[in-house]
Amino acid sequence: MELRDVGYVIGDLARLGLVMARKVVTQSLADERAVLPQMVGELVGRIHPRRMQVRVAEIREETFTTKTFRLTPLDEPFPPFRAGQFVNLFVAVDGVRTSRPYTISSSPTRRAYIDITVRKMVNGFVSQYLCDRAAVGDQFELSDPAGCFYHDPIVDTGQLVFLAGGCGITPFMSMIRTEADARAGTGGCSGDPPAARGPGGSASHY
Ligand SMILES: Cc1cc2nc3c(=O)[nH]c(=O)nc-3n(C[C@H](O)[C@H](O)[C@H](O)COP(=O)(O)OP(=O)(O)OC[C@H]3O[C@@H](n4cnc5c(N)ncnc54)[C@H](O)[C@@H]3O)c2cc1C
Repeated sequence: MELRDVGYVIGDLARLGLVMARKVVTQSLADERAVLPQMVGELVGRIHPRRMQVRVAEIREETFTTKTFRLTPLDEPFPPFRAGQFVNLFVAVDGVRTSRPYTISSSPTRRAYIDITVRKMVNGFVSQYLCDRAAVGDQFELSDPAGCFYHDPIVDTGQLVFLAGGCGITPFMSMIRTEADARAGTGGCSGDPPAARGPGGSASHY
C-alpha cells in the first residue's frame, strides 16, 4: 500500500468517525427533546408547500395580451394566503412539464377561488400556452401560496401608494381588492358575498 493510499484510508476512517459521532449527538438531542420521527415529518410537510389540484372555472380577457384565469379547487379548499403572494402553476405543454410563478390577483377574502392574471410574453413558453390554448375546464396543479411581498397592517402604514408596470400590477390588484372588501364589510373567508354572484351562481369580482 502506498503512502497516498494510507492517507485515503485514514481520511475515510476519520469521516466515518465524524458521521457516527454526529449520529450519537443528534440521537441524544432528539431523546432529550422527545422529538418523534412523525413530528419531523409533520414539520417538513408544513414547511414545504403542498400541491393543489385546480380547474379553470372562468377566463376573462383583460387586455389584448392579458387574461385572468379563475381557478377553483378540485379537492381541498384553498389555504389562506396574503394579498401579494404567488402560486407556482404546473403545466404540461406538448409533453414538457414545467412551472411558472403567478401572483394571485384576487383577494384572500374570497376563498372559493384564486385568480391569476397572465400577460402573454413574446415567445413565452407558458404564458403563450395559457393565453392561447388554455380553456375553461382545464386542470392544473398549483403550489401552496408563498412569498413575502404583502402589506402587513401591523408594521406597514395604512396609506399606500402602488407603483407597478405591466403584469407587476397583480399583487396590487389583490391588495386593493382586499381593502375594498374590508371597506365594504364583505371580507368573509368562505367565498363570495351574495351581491357578487352572477346569474349562474358564478362569482364576478374585478
Ligand atoms: C414571484 C413572481 C410572480 C409573477 N407573477 C406574474 C403575474 O402575476 N403575471 C404574469 O403574467 N407573470 C408573472 N410572473 C412571470 C411568470 O412567472 C413568467 O415568467 C412569465 O409568464 C413568462 O413565462 P413564459 O414561460 O411565458 O416565458 P419563458 O419561455 O420563460 O420566456 C421568458 C422570456 O424570455 C425570452 N426567452 C426565452 N428563451 C430565450 C432564449 N433562449 N433567448 C432569448 N430570450 C429567450 C422569451 O421570449 C420571453 O420573453 C411572475 C414571476 C414571479 C417570479
